[in-house]
Amino acid sequence: MSELQPVRGTHDLLPDEMRRYRRVAETARRAAECFGFQEMATPIFEFSEVFKRTLGDTSDIVTKEMYTFTDRGGETITLRPEGTAGVARALISGGLAQHLPLKYFYSGPMFRYERPQKGRMRQFHQTGIELLGIREPLGDVEVIATGAEFLRRIGAWDRAQLEINTLGDTESRQNYRGVLVDYLSGHKARLSEDSINRLERNPLRILDSKDKGDQAVVADAPVYTDYLNAASRDFFARVKAGLEALGIAYVVNPRLVRGLDYYCHTCFEVTCEELGAQKTILAGGRYDGLVGMMGGPETPGVGWASGIERCAMLLRETPEARVPIALVPLGERAEATALRLAGELRSLDFVVDLGFSGNMKSRMKRANKIAAKVAVILGDNELDQNVATLKNLSSGEQSAIGLDRIADALEAFR
Ligand code: ATP
Ligand code: MG
Repeated sequence: MSELQPVRGTHDLLPDEMRRYRRVAETARRAAECFGFQEMATPIFEFSEVFKRTLGDTSDIVTKEMYTFTDRGGETITLRPEGTAGVARALISGGLAQHLPLKYFYSGPMFRYERPQKGRMRQFHQTGIELLGIREPLGDVEVIATGAEFLRRIGAWDRAQLEINTLGDTESRQNYRGVLVDYLSGHKARLSEDSINRLERNPLRILDSKDKGDQAVVADAPVYTDYLNAASRDFFARVKAGLEALGIAYVVNPRLVRGLDYYCHTCFEVTCEELGAQKTILAGGRYDGLVGMMGGPETPGVGWASGIERCAMLLRETPEARVPIALVPLGERAEATALRLAGELRSLDFVVDLGFSGNMKSRMKRANKIAAKVAVILGDNELDQNVATLKNLSSGEQSAIGLDRIADALEAFR
């Protein structure tokens, strides 16, 4: 262990990266707000059971990726690997099901013990939305439209591809599950160990396996769409019609699945080829069985989560920091005036960088380094006349301005 290194798979967000991160998270928040979603937050840790129950004990997350520890009181706690489980827990523990429908937005860190690589970290961040209490396909359409609007606003949508699929209702899933297990059992010898383990408990997940051998078997598997009942087909048709009405382009990918029983109907994923191997930037679906399965009142839900780091990689430019005004006091007398002036300007929401030390030259150097467009110079001469010298750092132009008119004169440099 090298204790002064960041833990593997974690990283610092220094200011440039932080601004990219913030641009993504704030854009998501604003887009979600336009669709009526309100921000909420759940704790970053929960009792492990919250995730075990919701993610299923055969999922990658639960079997391999959870950060779980025993706290000092002997409770088994897990750092959240995703957001939906906590939201569902909050719905139940807060008795929120009386207030349906609910529309939530969240944003924050998630933790998964995975093999770190580009676009895959052990602490990463997601934004997400959950629409709870709506059973109609229009809900799925609005949820997908929210994601599309967010990605449009960060400039990623025109480089992204939306794939959708349906998992049908319980009856359809049961039909298909039987057919799939029969087929896969006939090819057991070619399946990976993970998939053999999933065969009984979570066969749908095998469709989504990243193992090459599994994929070869899956390529010839019966296709889910052939086993959908009329109600499920109708639901999917209405989702597709809604997307078409909005002009949201999609591709149906019959191999797109979610393994767990509480997922149903629509599932979707947005990818961007530019990102290479870790190319999924947003993924979601409908989970009508989740809250009920956790022990809460039966509550339909649909939502998505998006990886902030992956989205930040797609921003075409790094948002600029606000441009500061360099305030340059020369001599002790000027410092007191400068402090007061800085305070006034900051209360008017100017960004003011106060030179702390050094002669005129080194302070002006600092002003250039921070990319200030204007310096406000206060020396003994200025103080005697109750003025400051405003120096336009692009043109070099200087002028004396009365101290009571400084704020007005600086408006041009915001
Ligand atoms: P993958 O197949 O890439 O492991 P996943 O199914 O585990 O993805 P989800 O749980 O659907 O991913 O998470 C939603 C989004 O969160 C992903 O599409 C991705 O953008 C982001 N994400 C997931 N895991 C990570 C990670 N370890 N590091 C960075 N971003 C991640
Ligand atoms: Mg994963």
